Amino acid sequence: MKSFRELSAASARGRKSAATVVARWLTLAAERLSGPQAVAFPTEALEALAEIAIIRTAINHVGRGVQMIDSTGRIVVANSQAAEMLGVSLEFMAAKPLEAEVMAEQWRRDEFNACSDQLRRQIAGHVTGNQPPRFRRQRPNGQVIEVENVRLAGGGVVRTHTDVTARHEAEQRIAFLAHNDFLTGLANRASFQQAIDEAARDDCGFAVILVDVDHFKQVNDTLGHHFGDALLQEVARRVRAQVREGDVVARIGGDELALLIAPVPVCSVAEAISAQIVDAMRVPFEYANQMRVFSVSLGVAFVPLGTAEPAAAELVQWQADMALYGAKTKGRGCWCAFDPSMAVRETEERRTLVELRAAMDDGQFEVFYQPIIDLRRDTISGFEALIRWRHPLRGLLAACEFIPLIESSGLIVPIGLWVLKRACLDALEWPDAVRILVNLSSRQVSSPGLVESVSQTLADTGLSPHRLEFEVTESSIVQSVRAAEQVLMSLRGLGVRIALDDFGTGYSSLSHIRELRFDTIKIDRSFVSDAAVRADCGAIVRAITSLACDLGIETIAEGVETERQLDWIRGAGCDEAQGYLFSKPVPKAAADILLRDWSRLMLTRGDHQSSEKETLKDEFIQ
Ligand code: C2E
Ligand code: MG
Ligand code: MG
Repeated sequence: MKSFRELSAASARGRKSAATVVARWLTLAAERLSGPQAVAFPTEALEALAEIAIIRTAINHVGRGVQMIDSTGRIVVANSQAAEMLGVSLEFMAAKPLEAEVMAEQWRRDEFNACSDQLRRQIAGHVTGNQPPRFRRQRPNGQVIEVENVRLAGGGVVRTHTDVTARHEAEQRIAFLAHNDFLTGLANRASFQQAIDEAARDDCGFAVILVDVDHFKQVNDTLGHHFGDALLQEVARRVRAQVREGDVVARIGGDELALLIAPVPVCSVAEAISAQIVDAMRVPFEYANQMRVFSVSLGVAFVPLGTAEPAAAELVQWQADMALYGAKTKGRGCWCAFDPSMAVRETEERRTLVELRAAMDDGQFEVFYQPIIDLRRDTISGFEALIRWRHPLRGLLAACEFIPLIESSGLIVPIGLWVLKRACLDALEWPDAVRILVNLSSRQVSSPGLVESVSQTLADTGLSPHRLEFEVTESSIVQSVRAAEQVLMSLRGLGVRIALDDFGTGYSSLSHIRELRFDTIKIDRSFVSDAAVRADCGAIVRAITSLACDLGIETIAEGVETERQLDWIRGAGCDEAQGYLFSKPVPKAAADILLRDWSRLMLTRGDHQSSEKETLKDEFIQ
């Protein structure tokens, strides 16, 4: 007898149908079992049987659940996958149950407990044929099944069940990412915008809080992106924990989160949440064996119930942004609520910034010089260069009036270089023993190419490096002590000196003094002015001078305004002094006169009626 395989090959050559082949094979098999005369199957019947066998094989291998339900609601065909996906046994299905019986069994087994309420209601009330043509349901084990119903012309339905779990998860992920931030899982900028638009439309009384991680860039730069990412996730978690379920928390920028608190009756609720967030960040954050203390700054803006204008969504974010700026200028690690004066200030600052950009080209900046007095020799040992802006309408402006703005805008980098060059050129005209002190802000310290620019300026101007001294404040180095250490070391490598400015106002860290090996410490004016009258300030100044002396560091007392203060700081052991008692910052021409006539002017110090001093004052001093 030919094998089934041989018959199939022959059929393929003769183009016979598969059913004919199977039928022929069955006949041969029957003949072989019982002898040629035993049974004579009609060929058509055998062919039909074979067709069914083939269809059954096909259905069982189709890779999805297949059911055929006749017009009476009986499941006349069901493959094993259908039974599996319906959550019933094969035996149960083999009995050709009614669809209603299968469903009852499914309810009994709680097969629909992971479906939405709406779908459960739909399934419960469903009558055969009324099922939607296509729908998805989730099984208790998480499997997602897509059910498709194709109605048959003579009544009844062919139903397929396809496992679409992987596709469903991918779709869910894509949908999630369309509205959420990948890293933190918080809402993204687009969904935050949508939520805030809705709150403005509903006019329900709402608040927006912007949260910014302080010095995040430094964290990323020094501890790596993994640490930065983990920190952002932690911040997101801690912020989320402070708000209600319905409030929206979004990540709208690299290190910036935004909260929509809605509805909220009064601003104080949002302020209290902000205070809680500030507190929640006090716990140090640990990741990969690195423990770090960090903080956030927050800006709060509020739209009271019934006051939302068409542009409220945009306006409230702008206000929160200004409040955030307020928190940063207050020293960070705190929250600040918007008040209308901020808007006025913002507009002014914007205008000033435009003017500042033009001022550089128009030559409106000048460098003034304030003498540093050597207290042992009573001579001018140096000048601090301080920038001034001769504003066409507002007159001469001191640095404190515009330095913060040029620092935050980054304009300080080119302007600072201009000051350096001007100061070096001016110092060339003074005796070699007179040094020039130039301020460096944090933006300058961290700007790439600073050391090269300084080296180039020294080369271009020909000033001897030992005559140049840079002043840095602790706040400008503390954000990244390691990076600052590198820069300061390279500067020192050029031969210039480094002074620690305003010591006592910031961190007053002894480790900074030790690690960064300053040449000079400038004791802040706030201590000097009180040293003679307040025991604690006096003790601090004495402690600084004796520490500096032991470490071989020189000290300058800043802001000396009275003879009494001078006597006191001299007694405390300060090496040098600077302040209005000697001279205010003056233009180069006046500095030249100060240098030339210093001994004579010293004799009239304190004598405010001195005609020489009056002349100087009238001509140059603000
Ligand atoms: P600073 O470096 O601590 O400079 C001392 C400030 O105190 C100057 O203010 C000076 O005019 C003022 N001052 C000096 N003696 C006395 C005194 O006896 N009494 C009082 N009340 N004040 C005194 P100014 O020029 O407004 O500068 C403010 C700050 O701006 C400076 O503080 C410095 O940090 C920054 N700055 C000034 N010029 C520059 C510059 O060219 N580049 C950079 N990066 N920063 C600068
Ligand atoms: Mg200074
Ligand atoms: Mg200072």
